[in-house]
Amino acid sequence: MSAVIVAIDGPAGSGKSTLARRLAQTLDLPYLNTGLMYRALTLQALQRGVDPDDADALAALAREITFDLDWRVRPPELTIDGSRASEQLQSADVESRVSRVASHPHVREVLRAEQRRLSERGGVVEGRDIGTVVAPHADVKLYLQAAQSERISRRINERSAPAEPVGDALSARDALDARTNPLRPAGDAVAIDTTGMTSDQVYEKALATTRGRLAQRGRR
Ligand code: C5P
Repeated sequence: MSAVIVAIDGPAGSGKSTLARRLAQTLDLPYLNTGLMYRALTLQALQRGVDPDDADALAALAREITFDLDWRVRPPELTIDGSRASEQLQSADVESRVSRVASHPHVREVLRAEQRRLSERGGVVEGRDIGTVVAPHADVKLYLQAAQSERISRRINERSAPAEPVGDALSARDALDARTNPLRPAGDAVAIDTTGMTSDQVYEKALATTRGRLAQRGRR
């Protein structure tokens, strides 16, 4: 039997990462944050002066990065060239360019192949195209959404950053992502609107949905 995959998709600030890590821990599965992979590629492109519109150079760079899972931590998590994700991946420079980098089909092919490889032994996989493209056969598909004002205020709290630039950056990234990789829920995804919910409430609801789906499929 193939390994259990829980796909969690949704926009920035919808609560994906907090939920995905916690679910992974509870279900004893690896946690794969695919946004970090696009961010890591963007950071390396910036450091090496690779043009964010040069799809071939970006795809070549993506192939050079070693993505892996650190099985010594719980839940097992992504490593990039042997290290855990750095703070730099959340920087404004990376965030303002990542949508452009992620817009190239050739780049996405390389990273999607890595995402499938990393989830071969199962996982809670978060991103934007997991339930639709990366793992269309996932056992459970959750689609998180939240009002934009709430997504922005969560980011402000997470980053302890001033409201205006955070709001502007998130809106700009939403708009760019919508143009290049429109977010759409998989037909069989369970949508959870997290507006007004605490992270504990989101977790309880997602866990109940996940356990229900896994039981239906005779998986756990
Ligand atoms: O999830 P996170 O906000 O960290 O993702 C950063 C960016 O990476 C997104 O704005 C999007 O451009 C890109 N991304 C993507 N597909 C994914 C995950 C992230 O295109 N599966």
